[in-house]
This record gives sequence, C-alpha cells and structure tokens, in this order.
Amino acid sequence: MGTSLEKLLSAFPASELERLIATRRDLHRHPELAYEEHRAVGRIAALLEKHGHTVERNVGGLATAFRARVGPPGPAVALLAEYDALPDVGHGCGHNLISMTIVGAFLSAAAQAKDLQVGIELVGTPAEERGGGKGVLVEAGVFRDVDGAMMIHGFDRTLLHQDLLGVVRATFEWAGKAAHASADPWEGVNALDACVQTFNAVSMLRQQMRPDCRIHGVVADGGAAANIIPERAVADFNVRGPSLASMWALYRRVVACAEAAAVATGARLTVTQHRDVYEPLKRNQALLDVFADNLGAAGLGEGPPAPDRLASSDIGNVSQVTPTIHAWIAIAPLGTAIHTREFAAAAAAPGARAGLLAGAKLMALSAVDLLADPARLAAMKEEFRGR
Ligand SMILES: [Zn+2]
Ligand SMILES: [Zn+2]
Repeated sequence: MGTSLEKLLSAFPASELERLIATRRDLHRHPELAYEEHRAVGRIAALLEKHGHTVERNVGGLATAFRARVGPPGPAVALLAEYDALPDVGHGCGHNLISMTIVGAFLSAAAQAKDLQVGIELVGTPAEERGGGKGVLVEAGVFRDVDGAMMIHGFDRTLLHQDLLGVVRATFEWAGKAAHASADPWEGVNALDACVQTFNAVSMLRQQMRPDCRIHGVVADGGAAANIIPERAVADFNVRGPSLASMWALYRRVVACAEAAAVATGARLTVTQHRDVYEPLKRNQALLDVFADNLGAAGLGEGPPAPDRLASSDIGNVSQVTPTIHAWIAIAPLGTAIHTREFAAAAAAPGARAGLLAGAKLMALSAVDLLADPARLAAMKEEFRGR
C-alpha cells in the first residue's frame, strides 16, 4: 500500500465534498447532449482551477474535451470523466455523478502529487451516449502516453467488472422502383420487400449466434403509401459482440443478409457503416486486483453479478489501446435500470452522495496504490501486451 486512507481523506475536507455535491446537482438540472456539454465543462474546469489546476481545453480537437494533470512529466494514469446526458430522460445514465466522482478522485490523488513517480491525468471525455467521444480521442492519440485508464459509472449495484460489448452501427438503404401497387405491381421493384427479407434473414441468423452477441434494428423508412410499390426502404442496425473479432465477423454476416435480400428482390443496396464504432471492453485482471484490494477501504462490497445485462460504451475503445478498468458503483436501489427517469432521479438524490464519495475514494486509493508500486504497474502493462 503506497498510501493511507487517512491521508487521502484529509485531502477531502467537508466543504470540498459539498462543492462536488452542488456541482453534481447543477449538472443534473442542466443536462446537455453529446458534444454540447459546454456548461458542464465550464463548471468542472472552474472547480479544478479553484484548486490551482490548469485545464487544457479542446483536447483531441473536441471542443468539450479537456485535460488536467499532476505529477512528473512523462507517462500518466488517466482518470476519465463523462458528463453528457440523454434526450428526454436527462441524466438517466448519471454522468453528472460520474464526473464529480472522478473529479473528487483526481483532487484527492493530486493532493499527493509530490510523491508520485508517474503522473495522474483527469481527461474529460464528451459524447459517450452518442458519437463516441473516447474513440475520437483515441484516434487523436490522446492516450498514446498513458499507462492505464480508470473510470467509474453509477449502477444499481457495485461491480468491478461487467463485460461491455463492442457495437457497429450501420444503415442499409435499398433502392427499388415505384409502380402502382394494383394496376402495375409487376413494373415495380419492392425495396420494402428487401428490407423485410433482411429482418427475416437476421432473425434466422440469431439462432446460430453466440448468446453474448446482439443484433437489433428498426425500419427507418418503409415506403410512402400502401398503393405505391416502395421505391426506397431504410433500416438501421446495431451489431454487438464481446471481442473485436466476433463483432466484425457477425457484422459481415448481417451485411450478407442485406445483400442477399437485395439480390432476391432486385433492389440496389447501399451500406453505410457509421464511424462511431464502440469497441468491446478488454479486461485487465492486474488493474482489477488493485481496485479489489481497495473496495473495503472505500466502504464498498460487490453486489450480485448480472452477466446477461450487456451494454456498450466507448470506454471499450480506450481499453483496446491501454490497460483500462470501468467499475460500477451502486448509486440507486438494486433493480433500478439505467437510462430511466428513476435512475435520473437517483443520480441527484441525497442517497447517491455516499456512492459518489465511495467511488472517489476507491479510485483515488487505487490510482495512488498503482503508481506507488512499480511491480503492479509493470504487471498491468505486461498483461495488456500479452492479450
Ligand atoms: Zn448511458
Ligand atoms: Zn453512462
């Protein structure tokens, strides 16, 4: 153990905690969607600057990404903060609370920066819910000199690891030929038939799919009127898998379904694979062990596993380039689903205060422990290179 809990707690006076709690409420009252988080970034930067930290803006070319840093120059461990909200349900994913948890962890760890051999960075990562800000930051090289990355997310239970699937998003557009659906149907090429055929083929594919994969889609355009053979049909699909290989292999099979339907109906297919690929979370046991060792000291214990509840996050992209942990901390009663109004309410409720503080402690203790122990740091990096 490279540090004592008391030392960290002393870096966290009650007045500072109140400021974090107040900012959490403020962000909650003013939810901002992906890439529009200007107000949130302003509030967080003001908090950091109040503590004497310099906040670098426009990191990776993104207007709502930022970075603050303590410790010696060179490699650093990155603590990642999210702050974007959802349409309709606002902070139904609790990113207002995540950001304050991570800021709390950074301020605690920064209080001991003079003892650090490796730096600690706080990286503000926009657009997790839509757009995949972390993927853009990875491509821009923001994590090139990072030894490892840490994140904590609110949930209905505490779990150090939960698999996160990679997801590829695609739009299929079939072009056919319009015709009167009663007088001259044989003159038409039915684009909607190609679309329906694709959904049927994908439904059959599901039986041959591994249970940890997911395919889901919607019809975005199915024609203009029942008495016209549809000349255009559009469907959006998400294809998810637990590894890069399985995700891309399944994606190719879904595209094949759409291509086969185009051949069968005579419609012309255009496939648009969207840029915002969320890669699967690559697990790092050495890093998980550091967090596990600090769970008790942070007053936390793991809840019941939920292996079937498989979502995706752009933290996966980070985990493919540097050792990464994405832990979950209970901030809502067991059984509360995320992306709901109930979870949004929990993310602002007094009850989540304990989760925020415990999460900040867990991350600060783990970051400082990791950096104080070169053997653990080396083991983490070696495991990453070996996978
Ligand atoms: Zn979410
Ligand atoms: Zn989230």
